[in-house]
Formats: sequence, C-alpha cells, structure tokens
Amino acid sequence: MKNHPKNRWQDSVAKTLDPVARLVYRSNLIGEDPTLTNTGGGNTSSKITEKDPLTHQDTEVLWVKGSGGDLRTAKRDGFSSLYIEKLKGLQKNYLGSKTKGPKTQIEDDMVGAYAHCTFNLNPRPSSIDTPLHGFVPARHVDHTHPNAAISLAACAKGKELTKEIYGDEVIWTEWQRPGFDLGLILEKLCKDHPKAKGAIMGQHGLINWHEDDKKCYELTLELVGRAAEAIAKKDRGEKTFGGEKYKSPAEKERKALWLSILPWLRGRVSAQQRMIGTVQEDATILRFVNSKDAPRLAEMGTSCPDHFLRTKIKPLYVAWDPATGDVAKLRSLLEEGLEAYRADYKKYYEKCKRKDSPAMRDPNPTVVLIPGLGMVAWGKSKSESRVTAEFYNCAVEVMRGAEALGGYINLPQQEAFDIEYWQLEEAKLRRMPPEQELARQVIAVVGAGSGIGKETAHRLAKEGASIVCVDLNEKAAQETSAELVKKLGEGIGVAGTGISGCGPAIGLGANIVDRKSVAEMLGEAVYAYGGIDGVVVTAGIFVPPDLEGRIPDEKWAQTFAINVTGSYVVADEANKIFKAQGLSASLVLTTSVNAVVAKKGSLAYDTSKAAANHLVRELAIELSPLVRVNAVAPATVVQGSAMFPRDRVMASLAKYKIPFSEKEGDEELRTRLAEFYAKRTLTQSPITPADQAEAAFLLVSGKRFPRTTGQVIHVDGGLADGFLR
Ligand SMILES: [Zn+2]
Repeated sequence: MKNHPKNRWQDSVAKTLDPVARLVYRSNLIGEDPTLTNTGGGNTSSKITEKDPLTHQDTEVLWVKGSGGDLRTAKRDGFSSLYIEKLKGLQKNYLGSKTKGPKTQIEDDMVGAYAHCTFNLNPRPSSIDTPLHGFVPARHVDHTHPNAAISLAACAKGKELTKEIYGDEVIWTEWQRPGFDLGLILEKLCKDHPKAKGAIMGQHGLINWHEDDKKCYELTLELVGRAAEAIAKKDRGEKTFGGEKYKSPAEKERKALWLSILPWLRGRVSAQQRMIGTVQEDATILRFVNSKDAPRLAEMGTSCPDHFLRTKIKPLYVAWDPATGDVAKLRSLLEEGLEAYRADYKKYYEKCKRKDSPAMRDPNPTVVLIPGLGMVAWGKSKSESRVTAEFYNCAVEVMRGAEALGGYINLPQQEAFDIEYWQLEEAKLRRMPPEQELARQVIAVVGAGSGIGKETAHRLAKEGASIVCVDLNEKAAQETSAELVKKLGEGIGVAGTGISGCGPAIGLGANIVDRKSVAEMLGEAVYAYGGIDGVVVTAGIFVPPDLEGRIPDEKWAQTFAINVTGSYVVADEANKIFKAQGLSASLVLTTSVNAVVAKKGSLAYDTSKAAANHLVRELAIELSPLVRVNAVAPATVVQGSAMFPRDRVMASLAKYKIPFSEKEGDEELRTRLAEFYAKRTLTQSPITPADQAEAAFLLVSGKRFPRTTGQVIHVDGGLADGFLR
C-alpha cells in the first residue's frame, strides 16, 4: 500500500466536533495532502439536519465548500449552506428552459439562483460545483483533483482503465465543463449505478461519496491509492518522458545561470504588467524539462480546468542545450520563444473567441521551462506565482501518470478557452478588489532590522509590495520579515525551490560596504522573486566624538564608507538588475538634515550626509531615465532608532542641560530628548520613524511623485536652519 495516501483521521479529534466542524476537519485533512488535491481545487460537502431559524423545524441543509476557497486553509466561513429542497427545486426551472445543457445561458443563471437557496443568511457565495454535491444522494461527498486520478482522467484509455482498476465501483464520465448539467449527470449516474461509490470525471478529477463522513474520507484515500498503484505498476523509470535528453549543470552553476537570466526574463514577461516569479528546480521538474518528450508534452498544455487560469493553456518551453552554457543563445531562444508564444496565444484567442468573450488577456506565458534549469512561474503576487508553479508541478505529475498508463491527452483548445474566458470567471475577476498601490513590486529595504528601516518595511508591505528585508544584522532582518509574514500570511500555493518558495517577505544579511555581499544579497532577492523594482536604503552610522570632541581618522573613513560609499554600492548593484529588466524603478536613500546645517560635534556624520545628498543628484543623472533617485532627510528621530543608544541620549541630554536621572529607563530618556527636539521645530511635534517611512513610501512608489528625481525631502518637523536654498 506504499502508494496510498496516509490516513490522518483521528477519532479523538473528530468526536469533539459538531457536524459542520467535522466537514471542515475532513476538508483540511484532504487539502493538506498534496497527493489528494491542489490549492483551491476540489470541494467537499455534508448534508446536515439543522433547525430552521424561521420554522424551528428540522430541515436538510447542504454545507459545501464555497466559491473562492481552499480546502487546506478553509474554515467554517469558507462553506456555503443551502436548503437542499430549494436547491433541488431549481431543477424544475432548469429543465423547463427551452435551451439548456452545458454552456447555455440558463447554466450560468443557475449560479445566481443559489443565493436564493441560502440557509441562515450565510454570506459565503456558492461555487459552480454546488449541484455536483447537492444532487448526489449520499450524505457526504468529496470532489478532489488528485494527480493520480487526473492521470487516469487525462489518459487516452481513461474509460477502459477506470473499469479495469475499479470495476463497477467507480464510473467514468466524459469531460464536461462544471455546472448545473454536470450535477444532473451525477444524479443520473447514482440512479443508474446504485452500487457505485464514485466517478472519474474525464480530464478533470475524482468524485466519491458515502453515508459516513470518515468512510467518505477513507474512500477518497483508497480510490486515489488504487489509481496511484496502477500508475506505479506501469512506471517507466529511466524511460519516463522518453528518457533523458539533457543533463542539468551542478546546483551552483544552475543558480548562476538563473541569476543571469531572471531579471531580463522578468522584464520581458512583464511587458504588459509586472510579474513576480517562483523558481523550481527540484528533481521532478528537472527530469521533465531535461526529457526527450518535454517539448511535445509541454505543447499539449495542462489538463485540469482550474489550472488554465494560472498556467495558461500551455507553458513556454525553449530547446536550449545546457551543455553549451551559452547564456546569449538562451536569451535569443527565449526572445524568439516569447514572440512565437504571444502570436500563438493571439491565434488561440481569435480562433476560440465567442461573440461575448471578454477582451484578450496578457498574451505572455506564466510558465517558462528551460532544459537544465527547471521552471520559473509568474503571477501577480508571490502567492499567485507559487500557485502557478504548483499547478504546473501537478501537470507534470499528471502527464507522468497518463504517459505511463498509455498516453496523455489534452483538453481540446475550445474547452480550455471556454474555461479561461468563461463569463463567470470574468465576473469573479471583476469582483476582486482593485490591486494595491505597490502590488507586483519587489522592494528591498536595506536597514530593515530596526528603526526607520523596520518601519519602512512595514509601511511598504501594507501597500502590497513584496519586501526584501536587509540588515547587517541578519537575524534582525529575519525578525522583521517574520513579522511581515505573520501579519500578511504566507499566502496560498505550495511550490518553489529554496528561498523561492517564500512568502511576501524575506530577511537577508548584507554588509553595504562590501560589494560582493551586496551582490549576493540582491541575487537571493532575484532568485526569490524574479527581480526587484525598488530599493530603500536606511542603513547609516553616527559615530559620536571622543571625550576630547574628536573623531578618529578610521572612524571618519568608516562613516563615509557606510553613509556614502555603501549607498552607492547598493545603487550600483541594484541598477544592474534594473537595467536587465528594463522596467522603471526607484531608489530612495536616507540622508539627514544635518547635511545642510553646520554645527559642533558631528563633523564626520554631517559631512558624509552632505556627500550623500549630492550622491542622490549624481545618481539621478547617471541612472535616468529608467530609475528615479530621491532621498528622505530625517532629523532627530529618537524613537526606536539604533543611532540613539542610551549613552548618546544621555550625552545629548547633558549637552542641552536637560535634567535626568541615570535610574530612568531607555524609553523615558528617549522621550525626554524627543520632546526637547520637538520644541525646536516649527510644527512642535516629535519626529517618528513612521513619518520617515511615509516619505520613503511616497518617493519609492511610482505613482505619487513619478516625475520627481534627484530630490531630498526633509522630514524634520520643520527646522528653519535646515531649509534648502
Ligand atoms: Zn473540480
């Protein structure tokens, strides 16, 4: 039974749960096992006797996973609830319609009617699969997208094999787009085959049912296991996908190749809209891209209906020979491949479109396959690109199984089109909230471990950017990224190799005075997200003078290295990525109001910040027109600042003759100093890291000041001495 999915049902847990909670429990168990279903795919249901809130009578209610949910992460609110009687009552309307059947208007209209069947004002919209569950008489129904079962469903001899594997227990049904009619087909199937436990839905997946919920779950495992068993028996081992054609370079070389190609490729696939990438180069994907059959199978495209929306009808495969190591050749093959892909996509759209089809969507591929390297998948966010990658992983597994079983077949183009451009899908897309201002952007915050940098990372993440948190102190950078991931969630989709499987933020260490360290850090960011759109540097140093009021020469050198050269190195290395992408980008440095106010006690710092101000102007010219370069110049941000350790705070308090006691805590002393500084400003208020983060956001966003570059914005509460002139 080694190919059978693991049974993880625990009676001790289940027995403590009410019937709906048991459904949630069962759904999560299924969703957590990648051999059973994919992210967002499949749905589960239970028919439960409930007290009607109006009549107080017992009534039969269908609880079924609602629209837009995911079995792995679903909670009770992810399920819709409908009066079964009312849902069944819709059959009369449907059957009474003059035109009916798959893809007729009445089918789509039925989806709107489900809301009228809602039990107990449950706001979760019902999915198009609701009738599938409602019309099968058994109390519990699992509909899943297991790779093993889809292999069977997408195999040339699927019907015969279903009979061979399952006898009369599981019945084959031909491909049909999900909807009301498919529900009726299942209802009839149950009537015609009273002993059947489930069905293989052609080119789609598995559905099975039982009167008992635990047994329904176990049946799902068993049926998937039997399909997996059949595939294992015919597994072709070395000959999988026709055997190996290319060899992959060693891991280190592979990564270097990825880094040399990713920003450029991201720029190309982002011609219409920016995309975030996920790289996958594990053994399974490499075996596929390196195989003899990969070009033929890739061209056939994916099979399961919920895949097309993300993977598109097919991936882009380029026939590059990794043994040559010729990156220029790879680039030209990708360039040609992209052109051909877009033209093909347009042809597919023109050929399949209907009178009322939505306008053609972005014709760029979302999955790119390169022999020797693996796969990069693209999506509008990290989470979405991980789902895209996950789905192509599923497709590869499905093709492996189907090829072993006798030959993979794809869905006809028109069927794929009618899913991809379904009016109901279009309506779903239109209902989605508008994208956030920094969606599709990857922004590195250098100095994110504390103070202004940490605040900026949080501010930019709130606007939808993927954040690369960077700090000399790697642990601090990772803490900030962990805070962001906790706040925003990991997202959905399970795919990606190494750091590319990340969520909305990562934490990296880098020393900005060391070019190699900066380049490595940016390389990791590129591998994680595919590229980078902006960098905010908040890292800096303030060296207080010694007891005689002097700053030693080596401290001068260190001050300039960090405050001036460091920013330059980051900008220079980031610019290599910006140039390769060819997409507009933005740099925000942090200087200081001290740059323009001469005073005692901070000679090195002030002079370095004056140089940094001019660096902003020089870079703005050097990096134009692609990159805008601006700076935020804070003054006296005491709160949470790494530049105001306790001894500096006390020294300042003493300098300004502000009374304090050494017994006071750090925060009390800082507040005292911040209040003193506030009184010197025109706005009379303390200056916080949040004020700086706000300015950094406005400058780094391409939407607020798109035509401002080479500027330094003071965020200092208003210091007349600091006015620029
Ligand atoms: Zn399905």
